[in-house]
Amino acid sequence: MKKQAIIGVIADDFTGATDIAAMLVRGGMQVVQTIGLPSPALLAGIEADAIVVALKSRSIPVQAAIDQTLTAWQALADIGVRQCYFKYCSTFDSTPAGNIGPVTEALAAVIGVKTVAHIPALPVNGRSVYQGHLFVFDKLLNESGMEQHPLNPMTDANLVRWLSQQSQGEVALITQAEVAGGAAALRLRLAELAQNNIAQVIGDTVSEQDLAHWGHALVDAPLVAGGSGLATPLAGAHAALGRYSMTTQDTLAAQATQQPTVMLSGSCSKATISQIERFKADGGMTLRLDPRTIAADPTCVPQAIDWVQQQLAQQAAAGATAPVMVYASGTAEQVQAAQAELGSARAGQLAEDALSQIARALMPTTGDGRLIAAGGETSGAVVSQLGVAALRIGPEIDPGVPWTQALDSQGRVLGWLALKSGNFGAEDFFTKATRLLDAAAVGADG
Ligand code: ADP
Repeated sequence: MKKQAIIGVIADDFTGATDIAAMLVRGGMQVVQTIGLPSPALLAGIEADAIVVALKSRSIPVQAAIDQTLTAWQALADIGVRQCYFKYCSTFDSTPAGNIGPVTEALAAVIGVKTVAHIPALPVNGRSVYQGHLFVFDKLLNESGMEQHPLNPMTDANLVRWLSQQSQGEVALITQAEVAGGAAALRLRLAELAQNNIAQVIGDTVSEQDLAHWGHALVDAPLVAGGSGLATPLAGAHAALGRYSMTTQDTLAAQATQQPTVMLSGSCSKATISQIERFKADGGMTLRLDPRTIAADPTCVPQAIDWVQQQLAQQAAAGATAPVMVYASGTAEQVQAAQAELGSARAGQLAEDALSQIARALMPTTGDGRLIAAGGETSGAVVSQLGVAALRIGPEIDPGVPWTQALDSQGRVLGWLALKSGNFGAEDFFTKATRLLDAAAVGADG
């Protein structure tokens, strides 16, 4: 029988979605993250304990954010998901007009929830909420630098007051002293607030213990809202009730086969540059495509594809599976030189187009090919060129960078994909990534 997803997360941005997906995986859940609104065909085929829909609704007009969120929720509800988790940033990124309050109230209205608890805190990253005030480590939110955010300057750390401005209904606080009383007391308190027509509650949270209480208190709430901090305890509370069996991502990795990994990097972040140098020092095969070279002779892109294909063919003949890398990435001097000659937008575009064309030409459609894209923008270009609609989260290579199985809009497996943001990953990231799947494949074969 097909697995029924328990939690349906709607995240208001892509990296926030990746963050909460990792938190749910940590709770032993099988997780699929969709890129934008999922098609019904994709959702119907997904086997997961939690589905995370990544929207880009944080800073768009309020009504558009409401419409997209409700459409996403309807799609999840249609496949039987019963708990909605509206995920936003742990710094409560919003303005006096929204979008957190209006989106939450719209979800509450369609789901039929009287009182919604907001748990924004992420204690492990220093975000805690005390007496309704959000702290970033030892600083109040409005003294943490967030007051100067270009899109959503957070000028008030009092979340009850901040959320009230964005909302129609009344907002109340559940204090840390009440949270310390445990899950049963919290449930009673929430029921009492519902009786008093309180529409939303800010939940104090200063520790992992507080999060655990919230997880158990909210396990049967049809709608919860907050940062990613609540996700692991909430999953844990479902697991404690026997609603899913905890898995490790090794089960997914065991589907890997011995394959060479194609690596494409457009990231010019310091971390990536050292990772590329390390890869070369470890004997990795590389080819560099500078934006100036591409501008001067566009045929260098098909030539690069030929080069990779030759390497792969030679390896296949020799029974080897070493990784191959093409990169545009450059040092600060190289980037400046390219930008001076081409302008920064064109230099970036040339690199992104070249790398995503190479991805398209080389990503096998057999489902067991492997590709790594390094760089946030670069990853976005590769994902859209390959028609990736969702990612089934696999084993973590380094914190925040898992191997995933990329799925198309029909839910078919396209292949293994790892998307690395610029500054993520240890110096041996590229070699480590390959080894991780190789080891899983050997384990499975043996
Ligand atoms: P990161 O996550 O490290 O910021 P991104 O992919 O988001 O990486 O951004 C890097 C940008 O720099 C991309 O638009 C990419 O196309 C561009 N780029 C890559 N190599 C070069 C280069 N040699 N010169 C100029 N721009 C480059």
